[in-house]
Amino acid sequence: MSIPADISINDHGDMIAPPKKGIFISLLLLTCIVLTVFAFILWWIPYIGLTNIHPDLPLILALVFGGMVLFGLGGALTLVFTIVRGKNLFFNRRIRGVVIRILFPLLIVVGRLVGINTREIRRSFVAINNRLVLAEAKKISPDKLLLLLPHCLQNHLCNLRITGDVNNCKGCGKCKIKDLVEISQKYQIPMFVATGGTLARKIVQERKSEVIIGVACEQDLTSGIQHSYPIPVFGILNQRPFGPCFDTDIDINLVKEGISIFLDCQVDDEP
Ligand code: SF4
Repeated sequence: MSIPADISINDHGDMIAPPKKGIFISLLLLTCIVLTVFAFILWWIPYIGLTNIHPDLPLILALVFGGMVLFGLGGALTLVFTIVRGKNLFFNRRIRGVVIRILFPLLIVVGRLVGINTREIRRSFVAINNRLVLAEAKKISPDKLLLLLPHCLQNHLCNLRITGDVNNCKGCGKCKIKDLVEISQKYQIPMFVATGGTLARKIVQERKSEVIIGVACEQDLTSGIQHSYPIPVFGILNQRPFGPCFDTDIDINLVKEGISIFLDCQVDDEP
């Protein structure tokens, strides 16, 4: 039997339907039409003149743009106050949403244009996000907290499968998983190790936690914070003495500090 050119076969021998190219082409055409209309309006309005379209249009546009500027300035000031004071002002959760969904992607583009390192912007974003999470922090029971770790924390020579169940760790002490397991068991906090963003998202969806303490590199933390919204993620950056994704490390005291913010109990110095 001959197979149509646009049908492919996966590793299990199943036929896979061709990707829907039509969606992409339609979106591309739509974008072209919108851009053309937008370009025409940008040329047409100054050419004709606002007053010639409608005598009240200059005033109406001034009010609309003025309102947008005031809204933007008000939001920016509220954000700055919340970050500086570390206190929940008003609409804190919404502000966190605006920072995560709109401001961060925008600032990445602007940062690139002016030559700021993307990694530095991500670090800054994690720090700002943490301030906003702290501003709305409340005490919760341990089972509502989720400790999410990257797989690269596990020593590369260890063959134990800790992604399914972190308690499979035998506690040899060659990596910080040992300390983290002890903390998770002592305070009864659900803890999971994720091999990547897909598994991390699955865990977040299934657990339905109220707060997540996430350990990862800048890139994974920022995408985790974005995908988990509206669940607040308190981010802790890992250390990479051997380069990315290999035998990474974590300051256990930072994890304990994070836990003590959200749990209604004292977290000891000893695990
Ligand atoms: S502490 Fe646990 S995870 Fe780390 S190397 Fe030892 S047994 Fe493996």
